[in-house]
Amino acid sequence: MATRRNFLHKLGLASAALLSTPNLFANKAIQKGKNKINHSPPIVISTWSHGIEANAEAVRVLNTGGSALGAVESGVRVVEADENNHSVGIGGYPDASGRVSLDASIMDHQGNAGAVCYLEDIIHPISVARKVMEETPHVMLAGNGALDFALQQGFNRQNLLTPKMEKEWKKWTETSEYKPVVNFENHDTIGLLVLDNENRLAGACTTSGMMYKLPGRVGDSPIIGAGLFVDGEVGAATATGMGELMMKTLGSFLIVELMRNGHSAQESCEIAIKRIWNRYSDDQNSKFFQVGYLALSKDGDIGAYSILPGFQYALAVNGENKLFDADFFIKG
Ligand code: ASP
Repeated sequence: MATRRNFLHKLGLASAALLSTPNLFANKAIQKGKNKINHSPPIVISTWSHGIEANAEAVRVLNTGGSALGAVESGVRVVEADENNHSVGIGGYPDASGRVSLDASIMDHQGNAGAVCYLEDIIHPISVARKVMEETPHVMLAGNGALDFALQQGFNRQNLLTPKMEKEWKKWTETSEYKPVVNFENHDTIGLLVLDNENRLAGACTTSGMMYKLPGRVGDSPIIGAGLFVDGEVGAATATGMGELMMKTLGSFLIVELMRNGHSAQESCEIAIKRIWNRYSDDQNSKFFQVGYLALSKDGDIGAYSILPGFQYALAVNGENKLFDADFFIKG
């Protein structure tokens, strides 16, 4: 508690009332759905600044007759293939043992879902996730099983640890200090949501996870309902940040359910963030807690919200593709 108190104090939030009112952020203060804005499709929204390139590719797919599903897959593949992006695909940070393992999930408007986790040596986990969805009766394949499946499906095996990241990892092993810090500089996971011209929703989420994670660790990104959820009749949500927090609150599912119950996309993201803070802010590491959510409703309403400042999202709508700073919860 002392850590949390110091943190809140630093932020100017340490009043006794704040610290002792468990229901402070109860949803009753929010008037349901008052701030909905219905943009016209096609709409593409994705996490972080790398979302600009991903959105551009998704828009290209949509403009050439592709579906929402094709658009989300193609969009995030751009980021997976970028060696200079250190949190997705090739060039991603390895785990503590120097191995790069990837997590990804994909979902369409009919509720079909596919995912892979702890996948090594395949540059495009999102496409393997789509194959899991389309070619198997399962939702998720993990580790060596996912790798074998990918190879059977014709994917090429490739070393994902670039010389630059290997050098950084070796340097890190000199101390091997593991800090649960989600790293903005490296722009984190890409989650991308699309509403296409036929009002079909789809979503994709792909990541190399937290840098220097414990070998075997899997985050929220491949967990349907945590890092990604799509309900074609309601909306879609995706997440970035400290995956354990989205996994423990099933945040993307929660956001879609809040939209189902009449909340705007923005309100839904805010409630889901406050749910995390209400439940977990006593944690000694809570000052490092960052989660960013994006939401897109079937009606074209969008939402974006994070715990801490710094979360950015890219929005392509009405012929423009721009980067925005998301609103956030902890205001100093
Ligand atoms: N959510 C990802 C994970 O926990 C990390 C990230 O978004 O940076 O694996």
